[in-house]
Amino acid sequence: MGGEYDVAIVGSSLAGCTAAILLGRRGLRVALLEANRNPAAYKRMCTHYIQSSALPTLQRLGLDSELEAAGAVRNHGNAWSRYGWVEEPEPRDRPSHGYNLQREILDPLMRRAAAQVPGVDLMLGAKLRELTRGPDGRVDGVVADRVGRLSCRLVVGADGRSSKVARLADLPGRESRNDRFAYFASYRNVTIPHGQSVQLWLLEPDAAYAFGNDAGVTVLTAVPDKSRLPEFDGDKEAALLRVFEDLPDAPDLTDAERVSDVVGTRDYPSITRRRIAAPGVVLVGDAALVLDPVWGAGCGWALQTAEWLGDAVAKPLVTGTDREIDAAARRYQRRHRMRLWPHQFFAIDFSQRPRFNPLARLLFAGAARDPWVADRFFAYGTRNRSPFVMFSPRMLARAARARRAVR
Ligand SMILES: Cc1cc2nc3c(=O)[nH]c(=O)nc-3n(C[C@H](O)[C@H](O)[C@H](O)COP(=O)(O)OP(=O)(O)OC[C@H]3O[C@@H](n4cnc5c(N)ncnc54)[C@H](O)[C@@H]3O)c2cc1C
Repeated sequence: MGGEYDVAIVGSSLAGCTAAILLGRRGLRVALLEANRNPAAYKRMCTHYIQSSALPTLQRLGLDSELEAAGAVRNHGNAWSRYGWVEEPEPRDRPSHGYNLQREILDPLMRRAAAQVPGVDLMLGAKLRELTRGPDGRVDGVVADRVGRLSCRLVVGADGRSSKVARLADLPGRESRNDRFAYFASYRNVTIPHGQSVQLWLLEPDAAYAFGNDAGVTVLTAVPDKSRLPEFDGDKEAALLRVFEDLPDAPDLTDAERVSDVVGTRDYPSITRRRIAAPGVVLVGDAALVLDPVWGAGCGWALQTAEWLGDAVAKPLVTGTDREIDAAARRYQRRHRMRLWPHQFFAIDFSQRPRFNPLARLLFAGAARDPWVADRFFAYGTRNRSPFVMFSPRMLARAARARRAVR
């Protein structure tokens, strides 16, 4: 086969499809390469929560109403700690909700939407093998199964956690230990108190969450400390349900009927990269950054980082030189770092701590009692604001007052 494109995007999941839709709409020729041959393929290692910071991206893609028509559940924050429940007040200065929609619905829906954009060629079974380079060393194309060599002006690595694009482009990742692991399964006939969309329990050190999804399916996820790994050596479902039986305000599992396999990962280190752009190549989504799944941020950031990239590189791809494209990719890299580095720092700190630090204790206690503190808390928790909103003098003073009031 072969061919000439403006952009080759490797990976047609959330990040890849978002980039393809936005760049295709700008009139660019986009090769969207997907290793899987099945157009209905979907990511199994995911619990389907999309945070509200990604709602504007979904709206811009024109997919929010399609998600709703497919049964997506609007989600709102709800977290339990030893100080009690913190419920997200009606958001005023941020998107009103995120969505929960099973990936088996979401991924094919996004792939269809991308393939319908004029200029986007979806290539199934096109597993990336190599990056090609011009005489100056700049990446100028890809070699993939079924399609052979494609030349392009920019390769976008949207190929997930084990990104081959990152490896071939020499954009190394740094692993940070995660002291928890995760197992989950989907059930019908589960009632979760405190709202059907999201419940997160932070038990220090263990965590657990229940997310209500389309078609009346609830995903139950245990995120225990690694000292509990042996419990999951045998009957994984029994071990998963045991975690839920012991929770405060536990979901009612009397009539629960499992409708998926029990899926999990025993080791899930965070992966951060100092550089996510090199001449002719750039990374988005999990290829660029992987954090602890307990916060459910990866899907939203896959959508958002692809949007940031699209905004940065579309114009130079239409009218600019290769140097201008690379400069735009570096601007995207800076935006990625500025926006996500603070989240990265606190998420990695949490994944290596069995108990809350003193600041987290203060904020959870304050948020459980003062709706204003809870609102700021979820502005951060839904990834709409930087973690630094938590450190404002007003926030700390109100949290301290709320905690003192109940001593
Ligand atoms: C246990 C667990 C639960 C999670 N739950 C949530 C959650 O509830 N909410 C949330 O926001 N995040 C969650 N995440 C993280 C989330 O799943 C990811 O952040 C998200 O899927 C990243 O999307 P992506 O498009 O970057 O990559 P992916 O979804 O991983 O997609 C990568 C794509 O690239 C393709 N590909 C790979 N290699 C090649 C190649 N060589 N050539 C061509 N194509 C290739 C793959 O087939 C795939 O289609 C969870 C993670 C784990 C481990």
